[in-house]
Amino acid sequence: MNRNELIACHDCDALLQKPRHSGKGSARCPRCGAVLHRPSAVQLERITALTLASLFTFLIAQAFPIVELDLNGVTSQTTLIGALIALWNEGMELVAIAVFCSTFLFPLIELTALLYVLVPIRVGVVPAGFNLVLRAIQFVRPWGMIEVLMLGILVTIVKMTSLARVIPEAALFAFGALTLMLAVVVMFDPRALWDIADTLLARQARAAGPRQPGARASNGSTQAR
Ligand SMILES: [Zn+2]
Repeated sequence: MNRNELIACHDCDALLQKPRHSGKGSARCPRCGAVLHRPSAVQLERITALTLASLFTFLIAQAFPIVELDLNGVTSQTTLIGALIALWNEGMELVAIAVFCSTFLFPLIELTALLYVLVPIRVGVVPAGFNLVLRAIQFVRPWGMIEVLMLGILVTIVKMTSLARVIPEAALFAFGALTLMLAVVVMFDPRALWDIADTLLARQARAAGPRQPGARASNGSTQAR
């Protein structure tokens, strides 16, 4: 049996034959019942829209102040980047870098990389560097920690209310919305894209004619995860 026709269940490691794209209905592992494959067309539309919305919300969350503090008439407000600069200036460079990566850099990479592959795949084109970008998404995904930041902000706000008047600003709501949106975005398994790219490349290879030795090889390489 062709190695590329096999798929391992990510829950129980059972080795199974890859489900054929039937259009509707999801395929489940016969041993543990984990979902192996979901119909991708509807999912693709939904996840592209949600990723785009998340990116806009992300930019709003980064550009606007999170909270405004009012202490005896003296007000001060800051954005996330402003807080990071303050951390850096206080001599906590490592903390500043860790927060920058987990709340700005990695989520931004994940969202833009997802859009980079999703938009062309939707119109039936496999973008350049497809495998590399998908691997990058899987690498940065566990390091994006917007939800941890959100929890930290909420705890801080509750603590601060006894010291000063805390006025929530636009970015706080944007971070709240972003936490929920990202929870849905990360439910999308980029592996589905590999399957779609496989189908597209196979179709392109067929359209290019049977005398295209390179086409089948590149199709096979998309399987190497
Ligand atoms: Zn299983």
